[in-house]
Amino acid sequence: MLAACGNEPETLDLRGRTMGTSYSVRIVAPPGDSPVALEALRQRVAARLEGLDSLFSTYRPDSEVSRFNAQPGVEWFGVSPDFLAVLEQSVSVSQLTGGAFDATVGPLVVLWGFGAGETSERIPDPEEVGRLLQATGSAHLQWRESPPAVRRTRPDVRLDFSAVAKGYAVDRIWELLSEAGLQAYLVEVGGEVRSRGRHADGRDWSIGIENPDGSGVAGAVPLRDAAVATSGDYRNFFEHGGRRYSHVIDPRTGWPVAHNLASVTVVSPTAARADALATALLVLGPVAGMELAEHEEIAALLAVRADEGIEVVRSSAYQAFIGD
Ligand code: ADP
Ligand code: MG
Repeated sequence: MLAACGNEPETLDLRGRTMGTSYSVRIVAPPGDSPVALEALRQRVAARLEGLDSLFSTYRPDSEVSRFNAQPGVEWFGVSPDFLAVLEQSVSVSQLTGGAFDATVGPLVVLWGFGAGETSERIPDPEEVGRLLQATGSAHLQWRESPPAVRRTRPDVRLDFSAVAKGYAVDRIWELLSEAGLQAYLVEVGGEVRSRGRHADGRDWSIGIENPDGSGVAGAVPLRDAAVATSGDYRNFFEHGGRRYSHVIDPRTGWPVAHNLASVTVVSPTAARADALATALLVLGPVAGMELAEHEEIAALLAVRADEGIEVVRSSAYQAFIGD
């Protein structure tokens, strides 16, 4: 057990791997008489993340989402409260964005070679895309709360929470730390972040947003009890015939997004919402994405590929947030 001692707050770091990526938690430990049981906390954080990965991993055949997808019929399927919460968050963002975000996009993700395991790097048969589109859309989902259960209207509907699960995990760890009595910390899973309180030295937490072309930092977000998530077409894509095919699929067409929007960063009260909205705005593209951000007062920073490098566009809510 490690304890923060002395009269000055001390910063403690927890790190590890989860959901196919890394996580980090930075805690400002309270000084003096309230020692932090770091090892116990580390284990609780790791166990909670492992539990969430065992629900949402599309790479694990025994995960809750994989079992939902593999069941044969259209009967009610009992799920965990976390599963239902992520489903509700997904459907809510789907409705807000006219279906740009859609957790039923999984079969198209697989068809385009971005699913668990294989990467095909080929253009699929348009008829196959059309066939899978028929099983896409949150209208194919029904759910109930007690006991939590989900049902699909057709047996070929599949769920994929990859675009929201990391953000959701950040929120759950944020809560766990809050319930442990901590007042100041930063939680990050795979680049999605949520903060509470301030740095040990009293400054706000600040998150750097990297340029999509890796050429440095596009800006810094001062995070005061808020979350930030980024979705980009630059980390996971393939090129074919001079075009770039991203792992983010437009659920309205069944094709990967193919516009000049390189990345979207969203600031929101919760990381799950920031994560889902970042993916949705990436699908919508620079024009419709910014329109929606203005209309719904979403704090968004869009990095657009222009002739001369990357052009950064900020929504009004984003500007208000960073105090411009
Ligand atoms: P990253 O994993 O790079 O953080 P995202 O949060 O944008 O990126 O999630 C991308 C993943 O979400 C894809 O790999 C795919 O599994 C899934 N996905 C792709 N398109 C959509 C979409 N339109 N709506 C919801 N999920 C999507
Ligand atoms: Mg996302």
